[in-house]
Amino acid sequence: MSEDCIFCKIIAKEIPAEILYSDERVTAFRDIEPAAPVHILVIPNKHIPSMNEVEEEDEKLIGHLFTVAKKIAIEEGIAERGYRLTMNVGKEGGQVVFHLHLHLLGGKPLRVHKY
Ligand code: 5GP
Ligand code: ZN
Repeated sequence: MSEDCIFCKIIAKEIPAEILYSDERVTAFRDIEPAAPVHILVIPNKHIPSMNEVEEEDEKLIGHLFTVAKKIAIEEGIAERGYRLTMNVGKEGGQVVFHLHLHLLGGKPLRVHKY
């Protein structure tokens, strides 16, 4: 738990969020400013600021984020149509909240980004 982290506060239920899934390792909730009809964030309960701070011991945890995202995609009815899993890393990667999170986006044809 990091005192000034908005996502830690969501995990601790100090600020509200529409939580769709939680277990002892991860929590998933709807993004407050959805960029697509389905926009869900899957986060580790452990405060890891970004992918840059991930250690080898976190590998299973990172994998778990993806399998939870996959299950939610099925529940949201977008698995067959397709969806996008994105992780922004650091300033130039577009990361704004420094508690690692996986974006699950779908429910419409997503634009293909040209980098
Ligand atoms: P990033 O740009 O760091 O990859 O994504 C951060 C995401 O967190 C953004 O899509 C933003 O809308 C979302 N977000 C920021 N603050 C809150 C909040 O208080 N509640 C929820 N549910 N989402 C948030
Ligand atoms: Zn945090």
